[in-house]
Formats: sequence, C-alpha cells, structure tokens
Amino acid sequence: KLFNEVQELKGNIRVYCRVRPFLPGQDGKTTTVDYIGENGEILITNPFKQGKDGCRMFKFNKVFKTHASQAEVFSDIQPLIRSVLDGFNVCIFAYGQTGSGKTYTMSGPGTSKEDWGVNYRALNDLFDISLSRRNAFSYEVEVQMVEIYNEQPNGLVVPDASLHPVKSTSDVLDLMEIGQTNRAVGSTALNERSSRSHSILTVHVRGLDLKNGSTSRGCLHLIDLAGSERVERSEAIGDRLKEAQYINKSLSALGDVIFALAQKNAHVPYRNSKLTQVLQSSLGGQAKTLMFVQINPDTESYSETMSTLKFAERVS
Ligand code: ADP
Ligand code: MG
Repeated sequence: KLFNEVQELKGNIRVYCRVRPFLPGQDGKTTTVDYIGENGEILITNPFKQGKDGCRMFKFNKVFKTHASQAEVFSDIQPLIRSVLDGFNVCIFAYGQTGSGKTYTMSGPGTSKEDWGVNYRALNDLFDISLSRRNAFSYEVEVQMVEIYNEQPNGLVVPDASLHPVKSTSDVLDLMEIGQTNRAVGSTALNERSSRSHSILTVHVRGLDLKNGSTSRGCLHLIDLAGSERVERSEAIGDRLKEAQYINKSLSALGDVIFALAQKNAHVPYRNSKLTQVLQSSLGGQAKTLMFVQINPDTESYSETMSTLKFAERVS
C-alpha cells in the first residue's frame, strides 16, 4: 500500500510548503500569509498594495498549517522514507531564506524526541521497520555527512565524508554531534556559516531478502540548503559576495535540474553545480524528490517569500 502511494507521485517530484509561526517576542508583527487551503493553496498578500492586485495564489502538493507539529510533517513523508528500504533513491530538500525554518524542519530545534526533525525521525523509522522485518530481510545502514561551501572544485569542504555504519538512532545522534564539533567553530559562527553552505546527510541502505537472496540498494539524501536570500550587491563585497554568487549559482542549478526532470526533458543539466553533481544519481530516473519550501510569514520578508514561492512553483 505504501508502495502505491509512492508510485503515484506525479513525475516523482513533490513540493510541500511550511510556514513558520511568529516567534516569541514577535507578537506585533503582521503576516503576508492570507490563507492556507486544504488542497495545497497558499494566498500571499503584498503589504504595499491594496486589493486584488496585491494578492497572489500558489498551489503545491501540500501547505502545512503554521502550527503543524514535527510529527505531523513527518507522517506525511513516511511512505517516501520507507521506499528507501525497497531500493528507491530519495532526495528531501529544505529551501528558503535564512530564518524560515529549514534547519527546524530537517534537524529540529533540539534533541528531545518531539523536537526531532526529518533526519532523526527518518533514521529512527528506518531502524524500526528494518527491525520489524528482520525475519525476512537483513538491512545494513551507513550514513555520510557532507557540507558544500563555496563550490569551486577544490574549495569543496567535506569535514567527514567517510561512510559510517550505524545500528541505531542513538549512533546517528552521536555521529551528528561529532560532525558538528568537527567543524570547530563557535555556535554563532556555525549558524552564520550553515546559512551559507548546503549540508547533506546521506543514508545508504543495503537490503538482503533472506528468502531468495536478492539484494537492493536505496539511498536517502536529506539536504538543508544554503539560505536563498538575495544579497544586496552594495552590501556584499569580497568573500561575502563570492559566497553569495556560489549560493545563487548552485540553487539556480538545482532549480534547473528539477525543472528539467519535471518537464521530462531529454537533457538534464547536472554538471552546472557541485550540489547537483553530488546528487546526480539520486535525482531523476526512478528517484523521488521532495522539496520543503520554507516561509517566514513576516511582511518584511514579502519579496523573499515571493521569490521562494516562484522558485517552488517552477519546479512543481
Ligand atoms: P533556517 O535554518 O531556515 O535559517 P531555522 O530553522 O534556524 O531557520 O529557524 C529560525 C527560527 O525559527 C529558529 O529559532 C527556529 O527554532 C524557529 N522556527 C522555525 N520553524 C519553526 C516552527 N515550525 N515552529 C516553531 N519555531 C520555528
Ligand atoms: Mg539553518
């Protein structure tokens, strides 16, 4: 049954929108999000324009209500995650401006169980299912963490790209902690930098059918993308400008690849960025792609929100 649900994905690309709530201390703020429908509609209002001209409706596979819990969000993508055990390749991206909730969705705001984002829940679920199938299948799981920062061929930063076999969710928690400390930067610096790099957690699953000896290989990539915000040309100089240009280039390359796949184009331009090269084998073909489009509801974010939603609309 899960299988069928996954097979039904139109063109294997799915776009989910998540609007983060205002944070404590942001009570007086006004929102650009006028309406969220049950069938993936989201209506955005231009704070500077009255009337019909100031409204724009977008439609995606789903738009989560602002207060959707981490568990609710995960339950929607569970079938996709589980398909990895059956040998599918899956990419799940979080796209949006810095502060829109990408890391909240992918990793969560803390390490308590309710806080867990997609990555811990996914690993946990894969371990649970593989345990429940242990009489029929044997699974081997390995994880790998890669960060892509300023993507020149030799500027690729891979703190620890080796494969680590893992047996439980707590192994993964430990490993991620190591990954964080390996970066050896203060938390403010880490936050700063994480908004300008793409971080990829890859889960490799090898399955063995104990009855007939057949094997399968599936791969899950969980990608917390660099912030999509435009950097003002006048503000950015030197390294900051270079970073901004790399981010811009890789995000538009990603958009172009997903667009080409959605259109079923014969040529898919994977080679235009490090990000799309790294993910090439898991984008296209039988692979499934899901993009979380993250929105900051603040009226001050109106133009970023519009460009984020237009990006998402093009690839959906
Ligand atoms: P990004 O990774 O896109 O820069 P973060 O995930 O760090 O953004 O989110 C920015 C802030 O908003 C953080 O304090 C985070 O805890 C909070 N936040 C994001 N999404 C939600 C949500 N759905 N519910 C509550 N708080 C959220
Ligand atoms: Mg982040």
